[in-house]
Amino acid sequence: MANIDALIQKAEGARLNARAPYSGFKVGAAVETAGGAIFTGCNVENATYGLTVCAERVAIWKALSEGASEFKRMAIVVDTEELTPPCGACRQVIWEYCGDIEVVLSNLSGKRASYRAKDLLPHPFDRRFLSETPSSTAISESPRGGPASSRGQAKRSPG
Ligand SMILES: [Zn+2]
Repeated sequence: MANIDALIQKAEGARLNARAPYSGFKVGAAVETAGGAIFTGCNVENATYGLTVCAERVAIWKALSEGASEFKRMAIVVDTEELTPPCGACRQVIWEYCGDIEVVLSNLSGKRASYRAKDLLPHPFDRRFLSETPSSTAISESPRGGPASSRGQAKRSPG
């Protein structure tokens, strides 16, 4: 397991690669797996703005695409006096793929704070709600068929 300084240092390094020509707001993130591997990410902006992806999600996408599945903690580094927490979309993704990990915020002056993911996203919407819907039951019990028959069943199902 890397110590927290090493994880923050990785996030700080990733921040230098941020593609933030529109906001100038550079963010670095590093997520550590249960096995101690570290995956980093930086924010990547796009001229359409809407296609911009945050550093936290880039780090998680990289980890998932490399086969990682269990996570321990994440560090997020921003150059602001006030520590910057992850946005709502990232909180949702952190909860989905990392669960209740430790989320450590840091700035370049060494100011730090630590949170649990469940405290950053209280009352989350997640897979628990999907597994109990009548429509998902109807789909899993539907007879074999092509996409057309599946769509027909989905239309008839409640919800
Ligand atoms: Zn975000």
